[in-house]
Amino acid sequence: MGVEEEVMRIQKKLSKMTSDDGSGQEQALDLLKELQNLKINLDVLTKTRIGMTVNALRKSSKDDEVITLAKTLIKNWKKFLNNSDNSKSSTSSTESKDSSSKKEEKRKEDKPKREEKEKEKEKKLSSTTFPPTTVTTDTVRLKCREMLAAAIKTDSKADDFEGCASPDELAEELEEAIFQEFKNTDMRYKNRVRSRIANLKDLKNPTLRTNFRIGAISAQRLATMTAEEMANDEVKQLREKFTKEAINDAQLATAQGTKTDMLKCGKCKKRNCTYNQLQTRSSDEPMTTFVLCNECGNRWKFC
Ligand SMILES: [Zn+2]
Repeated sequence: MGVEEEVMRIQKKLSKMTSDDGSGQEQALDLLKELQNLKINLDVLTKTRIGMTVNALRKSSKDDEVITLAKTLIKNWKKFLNNSDNSKSSTSSTESKDSSSKKEEKRKEDKPKREEKEKEKEKKLSSTTFPPTTVTTDTVRLKCREMLAAAIKTDSKADDFEGCASPDELAEELEEAIFQEFKNTDMRYKNRVRSRIANLKDLKNPTLRTNFRIGAISAQRLATMTAEEMANDEVKQLREKFTKEAINDAQLATAQGTKTDMLKCGKCKKRNCTYNQLQTRSSDEPMTTFVLCNECGNRWKFC
């Protein structure tokens, strides 16, 4: 069995152990020890995303030994990732990078040095040609990826997008693109992620979701789209109308609102509503429109 398959087998077991109360994790320590003994390289890390699984286990575990070993594993992998970046610039060093490659070198000690160097070269080649999806262990970033993936999955069946990138992959790419712009996870980063989630989750905006999933909108593009660009057609129409009627001013935020027949009440299906539009929090966020149905009193809002 190859390392990747081994990792995936262990990952399958581990991913069933992340219940909130930390129960059912009797096997976790043994599995982590198995992982520690495997020769996991960048390729395997990226493909399996075992780092995320181990991190999730670490968070849910109540067992100090499990937590410590999980932390060690993640730390080693992180180091390994950083080193693999450096190795691209320096070709001379074949020094051991972490415990796993140390072991590997020990095994190879008796083999001719040339062969070892060839192997090293091969390894470098395969790791540089691999798509540059980045592995992160930052909990904020992982959480954001998780939420983005959930938003991308909104309203779709598993086989709807056969052959397209998976929601997890798309979420990773999108988060990475956003992160690359800010280089940290501050408020601006979070606002940006939040506004993408709001628009991807919007049930009235399947176009954006679909376009992103089939690749018509790239992660790079979606990462920087404005609220207007992401907005669904209905909202777009409304915005145009607002602009035309020059009601984009402060008066809009006042209590009485504006009557419209463009909005349909979800409850009574009549088109007799009053809306107010407000900019909530930062300007990076879409405008929020508050609607009141004059027929039945139903109230809702959308962005
Ligand atoms: Zn109504």
